[in-house]
Amino acid sequence: MSEIFTGNFTQQEPIPEDAIEAAVRVMRHGRLHRYNLRDGEVSETALLEQEFAAFTGSKYCLAVASGGYALSAALRAVGVQAGDKVLTNGFTLAPVPGAIANVGGVPVFVEVTDQLVMDLDDLQAKIASSGARYLMLSHMRGHLVDMQALMTICDATNVQVIEDCAHTMGAAWNGVASGTQGVVGCYSTQTFKHLNSGEGGLLVTNDAEVMARATMLSGSYMLYERHLAGAPAEVFEDIRLDTPNCSGRMDNLRAAILRPQLTRLRERCDAWNARYRQVEEGLRNIPGLRVIERPVEEDYVMSSFQFLLPKMGSVTIQDFIAEVAKRGVELKWFGAELPSGFTSRHDNWRYVPRQDLPQTDRILAGLLDLRLPLTFSLEDCAQIARIIRDVLIRRS
Ligand SMILES: *Cc1c(COP(=O)(O)O)cnc(C)c1O
Repeated sequence: MSEIFTGNFTQQEPIPEDAIEAAVRVMRHGRLHRYNLRDGEVSETALLEQEFAAFTGSKYCLAVASGGYALSAALRAVGVQAGDKVLTNGFTLAPVPGAIANVGGVPVFVEVTDQLVMDLDDLQAKIASSGARYLMLSHMRGHLVDMQALMTICDATNVQVIEDCAHTMGAAWNGVASGTQGVVGCYSTQTFKHLNSGEGGLLVTNDAEVMARATMLSGSYMLYERHLAGAPAEVFEDIRLDTPNCSGRMDNLRAAILRPQLTRLRERCDAWNARYRQVEEGLRNIPGLRVIERPVEEDYVMSSFQFLLPKMGSVTIQDFIAEVAKRGVELKWFGAELPSGFTSRHDNWRYVPRQDLPQTDRILAGLLDLRLPLTFSLEDCAQIARIIRDVLIRRS
């Protein structure tokens, strides 16, 4: 009898009871807008910003409407203007090139390696050939590039780095929190990321001017003094009348749901990693399958799992996916010609000038991915790995 997995790959945990109570309190008093305060009151949103700044060790934090909004506000706040080139990963998720397009920037894709991180040789070559002054570095699927090497390259060439940490909230490189090495770090609190408010985003920086511009962009109605992790008021003097309000604030309801989750983030990260290691263990030593080896400098948080089937052709991969699906295991394949449910291939973004990325294309052709929601037990993860192993071994 073949085993069949019956878990649901998109079912996250419920919102914790204390977070539900905090949300109900906000609804009872009715002041959902972050700047709608009684005398002496501080908003849930401002408190969340203060707590997230402390969590990452950053001076400033701004809560916004989505991760994608944080990315585009960050680009604009560091000075990207229409027509400017912005380097980014050839393998990322659609909101990343979307954020660049949103500010009128032109994405220049950099190859990724078979460790699924940015190829630093190609980065150097493309900084030189494009003349781009900005890099939007996507820590796609939680894989961290050698941040020291990357920052050395970017500092030497005056390239400003914005980090897309949608998958690295809670992660670190050599002990430094992901999102704090570039000028700005951007995070998402959308349901499938590490904190869940349905939609939402956070941005951190140590640069007061960047923070002031991002705050104006998010739509502060000149009420920026009601922040707790905001730039000093005097920094706004030169900025406030020159920065448009591109409304994208977070509200107190979402912040109320997020604050109690943030206090549990560390243990949640450990729970994800335990699940990740369980799958990794189960998928080692299968002919034709490669797990991604992780550098010792990397403290990852893996809410999904990636593996490579480098030698399998695309027809066979399609069969393989169909077979594991029959046994209840949902895999995403980044090599599919046409997007379904998500897009991560540079050639699916036709609003961007066509670019040649042979290395990335070759890697994506054999790259598979599965989600690891915390509703899965360790035994569920072991079973998922057994099913993948069984299908692969039967086929070989
Ligand atoms: C989810 C995601 C984002 C953007 O997040 P939203 O909150 O959905 O806008 C950005 N980058 C990556 C890699 C993501 O997975």
